Amino acid sequence: MKDIVIVGGGYAGFYTAWKLEKKLRRGEARVTVIDPRPYMTYQPFLPEVTAGSVEARHVAVSLRSHLRRTRLIAGAVTNIDHAARTVTVTPKDGEPFPVRYDTIVVTAGAVTRKFPIPGLVDEAIGMKQVEEAVAIRDHILTAFDRASVLPPGPERQKLLTATFVGGGFSGVEGFGETLALATALLKSYPELSMADISFHLVEAQGRILPEVTDEPGKWVVRHLERRGGHVHLNTQMLSAVGGRVVLSTGEEYDSGLIVWVAGNAANPVVERHTDLPLTARGSVRVRADLRVEGDDGIVPDAWAAGDDAAVPDLASPKPGALTVPNAQHAVRQGKRLAKNLVAALRGEAPRDYVHHNLGVVATLGLGHGIFQYKRIVITGFPAWVMHRGYHVLAVPTWERKFRVLLVWISAVFAGRDIASLGSITEPRRAFVTGGVPDTVTGATDAR
Ligand SMILES: Cc1cc2nc3c(=O)[nH]c(=O)nc-3n(C[C@H](O)[C@H](O)[C@H](O)COP(=O)(O)OP(=O)(O)OC[C@H]3O[C@@H](n4cnc5c(N)ncnc54)[C@H](O)[C@@H]3O)c2cc1C
Repeated sequence: MKDIVIVGGGYAGFYTAWKLEKKLRRGEARVTVIDPRPYMTYQPFLPEVTAGSVEARHVAVSLRSHLRRTRLIAGAVTNIDHAARTVTVTPKDGEPFPVRYDTIVVTAGAVTRKFPIPGLVDEAIGMKQVEEAVAIRDHILTAFDRASVLPPGPERQKLLTATFVGGGFSGVEGFGETLALATALLKSYPELSMADISFHLVEAQGRILPEVTDEPGKWVVRHLERRGGHVHLNTQMLSAVGGRVVLSTGEEYDSGLIVWVAGNAANPVVERHTDLPLTARGSVRVRADLRVEGDDGIVPDAWAAGDDAAVPDLASPKPGALTVPNAQHAVRQGKRLAKNLVAALRGEAPRDYVHHNLGVVATLGLGHGIFQYKRIVITGFPAWVMHRGYHVLAVPTWERKFRVLLVWISAVFAGRDIASLGSITEPRRAFVTGGVPDTVTGATDAR
């Protein structure tokens, strides 16, 4: 029996394993998924998690519940030695151990790209993981509670100021959703007004949302500004030391929340700890059929897909174009990879991955959205409904779709849940201090 090891159970890895479970005959191969997280993250819902419109647990698709015939190993792959057909797995506890395989599938995704900007690593947060989205939501909710008892002044202003750096898909969606949340919160906080909140979107290029064409991109800027957001185009964040944001335009302000959403960088394990052939940007080099390829041709028994792979885009008229790193491709590449792997096991020829773009749909906050397919552009409420409709159908498994839908339906009648649970990061504090603030007890660490 062949051993297939899948590195990473995110979009591409989850769909590869799921499809393999359906396609493989009994005794044909054993599939193992290795991932430090016990779930696949449905990242397109993270902006709605920041606004409390989707429950955090519902974007985490449990690998154990849904991959019943796959062996799961909880740990990070820290080295891929393809020549020896062995990966090293580093678990949370205990010593690293080797896992042997016959065939490897590399689907470890990408990480958030960072720049050496003073204060960035200390002050900013990303928006690629569930815990980051939850922390952003709780930060905003807690900030409103804290600001409501402060007199107008710099401390209150900082609490109510948020900065998103990066005007791509996730930056614009996160900005739009949290702006909508903050605006809606004002109804529950009579102590605060729109003039007190300050939301900034900072983008180095002269436009946002590169996935849509120029005019719809400009419409999104105008739309966000009409709702009170500040969009800074052709602007870079030069410093974030102590939460003081310094922009390349000379503008400076204190920001209680800085969300860094400035694109993807290569997965460090893929980039530095493997003998598989890579591109200059640290992605695994693959052919259109998703088999890994080096200078000397196909690398036997190695496949890759998703954000960590440089997949030729056969649907693009541009020669040499690669598929863009998004879920639309990762899902379909995962499914194609599984079919090709099964074909290869049975001595059949694998088929090329070809996918024609289905268009772009983005949420800009509750009730606001944008959709574009070629020259068709839909904005506002209908686009937002399309966004919700598309993603509730796209989130894997009926059980997830049902849970997400129930939360949306209950919100129509009961509104948003706006209590901050920021205190869950210190679960022992109430037990240790009896609820008395640190300033009174003198406690420094109650966790
Ligand atoms: C906020 C946000 C919104 C988005 N919205 C959209 C959208 O609306 N539409 C769209 O098409 N795309 C969207 N995307 C992009 C899309 O989510 C990604 O392109 C997609 O998740 C890529 O899939 P992947 O399988 O390559 O990587 P991932 O889904 O990131 O999965 C990688 C997996 O590998 C695991 N892993 C990492 N390193 C290791 C290691 N060393 N060992 C073992 N496992 C490892 C990780 O834990 C993870 O489970 C969005 C992304 C974000 C962040």
